[in-house]
Amino acid sequence: MNKIPNSLHASDIAHSMHPYTNMRLHEEQGPMIITRGEGVHVYDSEGKEYIEGLAGLWSVAVGFSQPRLVEAAAKQMAELPYYHSFAHKAHEPSIRLAEKLAEMTPEGMDRVFFTNSGSEANDTVIKMVWFYNNALGRPEKKKFLARNKAYHGITIASGSLTGLPANHKDFDLPAIPVTHLTCPHYWKWAEEGETEAAFTARLLKEAEDTILAEGPETIAAFIGEPVMGAGGVMTPPEGYWPGIRALCDKYDILLVSDEVINGFGRCGAPFGCQKYGFTPDIMVTSKQLTSSYMPLAAIIVNDKVYGTIADHTAKLGTFGHGFTGSGHPVACAVGLENLKIIEEQDLMGNAARLEAKFQEGLRKFADHPLVGEVRGVGLIGGVELAKDKAKRLSFEPAGKVAPQVVKFCAEEGLILRAVYETVALCPPLIVTEEDIDEIMSRLGRALDRGWEWAQ
Ligand code: PLP
Repeated sequence: MNKIPNSLHASDIAHSMHPYTNMRLHEEQGPMIITRGEGVHVYDSEGKEYIEGLAGLWSVAVGFSQPRLVEAAAKQMAELPYYHSFAHKAHEPSIRLAEKLAEMTPEGMDRVFFTNSGSEANDTVIKMVWFYNNALGRPEKKKFLARNKAYHGITIASGSLTGLPANHKDFDLPAIPVTHLTCPHYWKWAEEGETEAAFTARLLKEAEDTILAEGPETIAAFIGEPVMGAGGVMTPPEGYWPGIRALCDKYDILLVSDEVINGFGRCGAPFGCQKYGFTPDIMVTSKQLTSSYMPLAAIIVNDKVYGTIADHTAKLGTFGHGFTGSGHPVACAVGLENLKIIEEQDLMGNAARLEAKFQEGLRKFADHPLVGEVRGVGLIGGVELAKDKAKRLSFEPAGKVAPQVVKFCAEEGLILRAVYETVALCPPLIVTEEDIDEIMSRLGRALDRGWEWAQ
């Protein structure tokens, strides 16, 4: 039905270039066209129903087709469809959303800058950090510390912070000064017999040794996702984040918490930094901020960072940075309504309440012959596939088995995402106990089929 000439399917093959897609393979197999969504479900052009087990791209907290968000967008469109915030201009939606974010985030994080995407937000963070150190008369303090397997975006600067091979290879990245430290994933990177505490201590030592080797006067910021998302859902080892915070304090390094996936209840606490007991200097949020109904990201900075930047703009005459769409009124109106729904329906509480059921459901697959490790927190999880669990060996060649399992999931009516050897789960925050049971049974069938296929 889809493959007839002039169909949407044929047109997509003829004209679209898809992100994160093997374009030649796409020409052969074509797109899965999603036509509508309702709650935790989406439907394709053939009418097949799926549970959206990744909430789109880790983002649709309130579920699909939430009428209040549609109304908020329509109302704002009718009232003031666009205005900017350059040069002292302002409008109510961005004022109110900034106020709300200052209220929701930890004490002292009071100033908000809006961008259109997480990548732009992290580019902005890099520029803010550089501007900050120039303002303080430390032009050499510009380097970033990030981690292998981190995901911070794909623009030239944010893509440099990302620590995944596919985002660097043949894009000539990294293009800014950044050092990637060991990924804090105990199961994969701990040495034989190393305890979790010893693993944490080794990673903290590596960070400190790197700072000392490169010179603390050159290291501007450490950036990390409290729980690493797009690199494969890696939860940090015990004590890691407080240890990183202490190092940042010791060497006057700014700590950036990339909460683009973690934020707004995903990890069973309002923000990932709160879950793991540290206070950053800068937070980056997006995705669940608007449930991705509109593109929007927000950077929230503490008073120390704001004060230095603000003084410097007074000296230079301006902060020479901003996007046409920064704080777009429709996006901000949708964001505000979305956060209201999250609060009124206690969706962060729902994530915390369902955490045990979701995580225990996933951990039942830990003994599956295809599975190396199951991990996660709150309503985010990863099932890492392994050829040899005991030796922590991945399948060769990489990137074959997890996408196949994800294909089987789709056939079973569950959309998930393969991130390297891990099948990632991140359902909408409105998910129910029954939805979780259904996710687990569909995933279980797909894993069984994957095991047969891999033999
Ligand atoms: N930071 C994190 C932690 C992310 O997961 C992502 C996207 O997945 C980004 C930044 C980049 O956001 P965007 O895709 O909106 O540019």
